[in-house]
Amino acid sequence: MGTVETIKIAKRTGFCYGVREAIDKAKESSAAGKLTHTLGQVVHNEGVVSDLQAMGIRTVETLDDVDHGAAVVIRAHGVRPDVMERATARGLEVIDGTCTWVIQEQKELLRLVDEGYTIVLLGTPKHPEVVGLLGFAPDAIVVDEEEEWEAKVPRKKRMALISQSTQPPWKFEKLAAFMVGRSHELKIVNTVCPVTIRRQEDTVEAAQEVDLMVVVGGRSSANTKELTRLCGIVGTPAIQIEHAADLADASVFDGKTVVGVTGGTSTPIEDLRDVAERVLKIAGTPKVAARAADLAHEALAGAATPAGRTSSLPKFVHAEGATQTHGAA
Ligand code: SF4
Repeated sequence: MGTVETIKIAKRTGFCYGVREAIDKAKESSAAGKLTHTLGQVVHNEGVVSDLQAMGIRTVETLDDVDHGAAVVIRAHGVRPDVMERATARGLEVIDGTCTWVIQEQKELLRLVDEGYTIVLLGTPKHPEVVGLLGFAPDAIVVDEEEEWEAKVPRKKRMALISQSTQPPWKFEKLAAFMVGRSHELKIVNTVCPVTIRRQEDTVEAAQEVDLMVVVGGRSSANTKELTRLCGIVGTPAIQIEHAADLADASVFDGKTVVGVTGGTSTPIEDLRDVAERVLKIAGTPKVAARAADLAHEALAGAATPAGRTSSLPKFVHAEGATQTHGAA
């Protein structure tokens, strides 16, 4: 028999504003009747991508797959400047969904290049945001895990440190301290996104109040993995899943009465509600399991702030003409 009595969804979860706005731009373009593509998956979430597909929005891996005159949405991670130029040269309508925070990072990098610094970029190599940033500073040295800093970070007179938006703040601060000893002048540009910081704070807060955390997000999402790691640091066991269907084995909840749910910046809040409902259904006490849907709804309503909504569009008309309403908060 299930033991879970209460479910708690961390505050300020759901899409970050960068992801939300890029998705909204794609929807608006499609609703305006334009043949719309996104360059790369606009978000690493199968449910969202298939929703967009149902609206006629296609994901392409290269600009060569977009027909002349069609619209292409640049996702929140941004792209190298030459990709923008090529899209325009090919006669595509470029809808720039690059997050304003990432645009700021790109500008800061250009300035550091102009000022002649040796640039160290804390980031996950090959992550689309990092690939895009390197287009602005091709000589920047990308470093990730602490074990590689000694070998990769040079000793230079003038160095600058900057970060991919979703890197954990502690890692950025630690690398900054490490670099102090390797340079005469060190310029630190803290570009860790505030959304990332708030998400981590809220996850830690929730983790401290529950017996077990369920972290929802892409398997390879660095910001999701970091949330799981933080739960462990505060001493709360955590499991990481991609979606509600991954919760097949109820034994993980044995003896737990309060369970928390949080998610990465690419996870829509509706997915958190679905996970909450599933937990209550498979592991709740009989009384709770019978009201799983209502209780999951209440948990989401208690957590989601306007900033955590899934869309800024009150409603939109998709390509086929049917009106849909978005946003659960
Ligand atoms: S994590 Fe922050 S910087 Fe990155 S896309 Fe989201 S809002 Fe923008």
